[in-house]
Amino acid sequence: MCQPWTVTKTPVCVVGLGLIGGSVMRAATAAGREVFGYNRSVDGVDAARFDGFDATGHLDEALSRAAATGALIVLAVPVPALPQMLGHIREVAPDCPLTDVTSVKGAVRDAVRAAGLLERFVGGHPMAGTAHSGWIAGSADLFAGAPWVISVDDHVDAAVWTQVMHLALDCRAVVVPARSDEHDAAAATISHLPHLLAEALAATAGEVPLAFALAAGSFRDGTRVAATAPDLVRAMCEANAAQLVPVLEHAMLLLGEARDQLAAGQPVSALVEAGHAARIRYEGYSRPEIIATVVGAEGWRDELAAAGRAGGVIRSALPTRGSPG
Ligand code: NAD
Repeated sequence: MCQPWTVTKTPVCVVGLGLIGGSVMRAATAAGREVFGYNRSVDGVDAARFDGFDATGHLDEALSRAAATGALIVLAVPVPALPQMLGHIREVAPDCPLTDVTSVKGAVRDAVRAAGLLERFVGGHPMAGTAHSGWIAGSADLFAGAPWVISVDDHVDAAVWTQVMHLALDCRAVVVPARSDEHDAAAATISHLPHLLAEALAATAGEVPLAFALAAGSFRDGTRVAATAPDLVRAMCEANAAQLVPVLEHAMLLLGEARDQLAAGQPVSALVEAGHAARIRYEGYSRPEIIATVVGAEGWRDELAAAGRAGGVIRSALPTRGSPG
């Protein structure tokens, strides 16, 4: 049976030991947490074990251990694999606190609700990554200083939220509280749109003779994420289509105006100046620390959502109502 949720430093059970799950396993272990996990491929399990970590290729074995120890289960598989994983969790470890690292939050919350596990679920999304995949790509330092979104949707339980906050802070991330729909709208803009733009840029250059021979910093930086495994890019863009389509339309409108201006021999100053100004604003963006909220106190979810919207981050654990301190 699971321990009471007031325990904030429970064991951690990572489901999927790829880039992100493998990095959670390394970072949480480095922070002194008991961490164990499941990976589908034998190669991934062997590689994790070789590096001294506690991995198994048997999902039910990992989940039974999670149920017995009250572990926080971290789902670190792509969106299409979630329903199958959630089905096993419902069978074997339905009382365990549950979080995820997926790049979309609304679709995951819907899948968790459909599996009947919403009550114990608090969504998460560490905003860190590389274009590489698998256990070997992971690092204990991947999340250092990175924003880690934790959902403050109406259903979330304060004690589970606190556990997820502790995990993110143990991984040396800074916590950004946000509602799932607001996360998805923002992620469409700063993550999913860049993926599509990078693919378009890479594909365009791929058709121009000499382009690769001349390619330097602009091309390398602008197409970095196009090296990501296509399945992962598809999974995140397709699962967030409702939020991505309007953002994509806006970007196409801006590019269409620039195209028309260039074709008519006019300056493209409107787009270039607006883009430059936004980028400078981003570089000077301040991130005030959230310190005053008590997790579980009246209105705590709205308070944290507003603070996150204003750029606030949690750098050290907030108090939780009813916890010893
Ligand atoms: P990855 O390919 O490195 O790892 C994926 C893991 O999921 C592997 O362990 C794989 O074995 C497992 N998996 C895939 N399909 C499965 C299935 N059907 N059943 C069981 N296991 C399965 O990918 P990743 O980058 O670690 O992505 C994992 C999650 O993290 C995704 O949901 C992604 O949206 C999210 N994420 C990725 C990044 C990034 O930059 N790559 C950043 C933040 C969040």
